[in-house]
Amino acid sequence: MRSHLCGEVNEALDGQSVALCGWVDRRRDLGGLIFISLRDHAGIIQIVIEPDSPAFADAERLRNEFCVRIKGTVRLRPESQWNESMATGKIELVADEVELLNASAPIPLLMTDDDGEEVRLRYRYLDLRRPRMQHNMGIRSKLNRAIHNHLDGNGFSEFETPILTKATPEGARDYLVPSRVHAGQFFALPQSPQLFKQLLMMAGMDRYYQIARCFRDEDLRADRQPEFTQLDMELSFVDEAGVQSAAEGLVRAVFRDVLDVELPEPFPRMTWRDAMEEYGSDKPDLRYPMRLHSVDEHVSHVDFRVFSGPANNDEQRVAALRVPGGAQFSRKKIDEYTAFVARYGARGLAWIKVNDAEAGLEGLQSPVAKFLDEAAWSGIAAQTGVQTGDLLFFGAGDWLQTSTFMGHLLVRCGEDLELAAEGWAPLWVTDFPMFEWDEESGRHMAMHHPFTAPQSDSADELRANAANALSRGYDIVLNGAEIGGGSIRIHNPEMQQAVFELLGIGKEEAEAKFGFLLEALKYGCPPHGGIAFGLDRVAALMAGEPSIRDVIAFPKTTTAQCPLTDAPSPIGDAQLDELHIGVVTKPEK
Ligand code: ASP
Repeated sequence: MRSHLCGEVNEALDGQSVALCGWVDRRRDLGGLIFISLRDHAGIIQIVIEPDSPAFADAERLRNEFCVRIKGTVRLRPESQWNESMATGKIELVADEVELLNASAPIPLLMTDDDGEEVRLRYRYLDLRRPRMQHNMGIRSKLNRAIHNHLDGNGFSEFETPILTKATPEGARDYLVPSRVHAGQFFALPQSPQLFKQLLMMAGMDRYYQIARCFRDEDLRADRQPEFTQLDMELSFVDEAGVQSAAEGLVRAVFRDVLDVELPEPFPRMTWRDAMEEYGSDKPDLRYPMRLHSVDEHVSHVDFRVFSGPANNDEQRVAALRVPGGAQFSRKKIDEYTAFVARYGARGLAWIKVNDAEAGLEGLQSPVAKFLDEAAWSGIAAQTGVQTGDLLFFGAGDWLQTSTFMGHLLVRCGEDLELAAEGWAPLWVTDFPMFEWDEESGRHMAMHHPFTAPQSDSADELRANAANALSRGYDIVLNGAEIGGGSIRIHNPEMQQAVFELLGIGKEEAEAKFGFLLEALKYGCPPHGGIAFGLDRVAALMAGEPSIRDVIAFPKTTTAQCPLTDAPSPIGDAQLDELHIGVVTKPEK
C-alpha cells in the first residue's frame, strides 16, 4: 500500500512520487490550499493539496485521525520555509491522490500532553498514536532486542516459567486464581520467577534469563503497577562479582545499542552503610553534587541538647547537608522543607545561612548559630566545604531515620535548585543488612527475600547475630532509581531452614510453602546467584519519562484498574459457582 514511511521521506527523494499511509494529525485550510500533517509510527510529514489537484475534494473531507493513503510528488521547500524541528522539515508532499482508508469518529482526546491520564488510558489505542508514545514504545522494543542480543551472545539461555503457580514471597500480596478442578484451591500469580530460576540452576541450566511478567497486589504508589516486567537472570557457579560483571556488561551494551551512550566501566560501588551515611538513601543519586556529613565530633561538646545528645550516642547522628546557593531560601521555603522532612519522621530541621564564609560565626544567619562556638563552626565549615551564599541543613537523631529524612531532603533541594549533572550515574549498592526489624509484627523481615544468602556461612553465627548480619544482596542504581536487585542465594537446606526460622516461618509453614525448594536443595545444588531488573523503570529512564505508565502499552491506573477494558469486572453467578466461589458483597457496576 505504501512506498515509504512518513518519517522517512527526505530531500533525497525530491521530485519522486511516493505513496504514504497514516493518520491525519492536523488539517489546515489556507486560502484554497489544504495542508495535512500525515503521521505514522516513523514520523510526520507535511502534505500540500493544491486547489487544482484532483485530490482536493477528498482532502476537504478529512478530519483528525482519519486513516488515509496519499500519493504525490516530493518537493523541496524553499529554504525560508524549512522547519528544522521536523525530520521531514525540508520537504513536503504535493498530493495528487487522497484515498480514505477509514474515517474516524470525533476524537475524545486532545492528543496532547494535556489529556488526563484516565482518558488517555481509556482510549489508549489513540493515545499510543502520538509521536511521544510511539517513541517510548520504540525505545522499549529496542531495549528488549538489545537484551536478547547481548544475553544470547553471552551464554545465557531463555526459559519461560509458570504463571499459574504457588506464592513466591517478594513482600507483597499475591494475585490469586481459583482452581475450577480443585474446589477451594488457588494458584498464585508469580511475584517474580525467583524460585523457578533457582530450580533451573539446580537443573543444570547454568545461565538463565527471561523477560518476565510479575504480579504484586500492593497498595499502589504512583510508580507501581500490579503487573510489571522484569529482566530476570540467574547464573550458576558465581559469586557477587560474577553476577555483577554479567549484569553490568548487559547494562552497558543496552545503553550503547539503544541510546548510543557509553556508561562508566566499572560502575562505582558503595556499601549500604556508606550509602545511607553519605547520601541518606539506598539508591543514591550521584548526579547531585551534595552529600551528607556526620558532624558529630564538632558538636558533641556544645550546649545544645538537640545536637550534643545524638552526637554522643553511637546509634544516633548529627548530619549536615550543604545546599549550594541555599542562602537565598526564604523563611517560607525553609518552613516547607521542615514540613517535608516531617513526613519522614523528622522532629525538626536546623539551618544556617552562610552570608560571609570568611567572617566565622559573625557571618552566619541562623536560629542555632548562637549555640556554636568558633571551634564547632570552623570544624563544620571545613568538613562541609561551605561557601558564602550556601545554606546548611542539620538533622539529628536516630542514625537510620535521620539519614533517611536528610537523604530525601538532599534530593528535594537538588531538584528544586536543578543541581543534577547531565548524564547517567550508575552504581552498585552492596552489603545490605540481612534483615530489617518490623515494629508492627515484632519480627525480622528479609531485606531482599528469604532466599538471599547471608555473608556468614554459619547458621549458628547468623542466629546469634541476626540484627547485625549482612547479606550477599546487591542493588543496581541509576540516577537515583533502583533499576535492579539480586543476591547470591542460599544453596544448602540447613541455612535456608535457619533463615526461614529467623523470619518467623516455622518448620510446618516452610514445608507447606517451600517444601519443594527445601527438597531440591538436597540434591547437589550448585552455588548460584542472580539479579532482576525492573524493565519498566529502565525503559522510563531511557525515554526520559518520569512515569513507568508512559512506557507500558496498556498500564493500569494507580487504583489497579484498566479503564480501557474496564477490568477488573464482576463475573456471572454460573462462573462463580463453577469456581466454587461465593461473593459476599457484589460490586455495583
Ligand atoms: N526476585 C528478585 C526480585 O524480584 C530479584 C532477584 O533476587 O533476582 O526482586
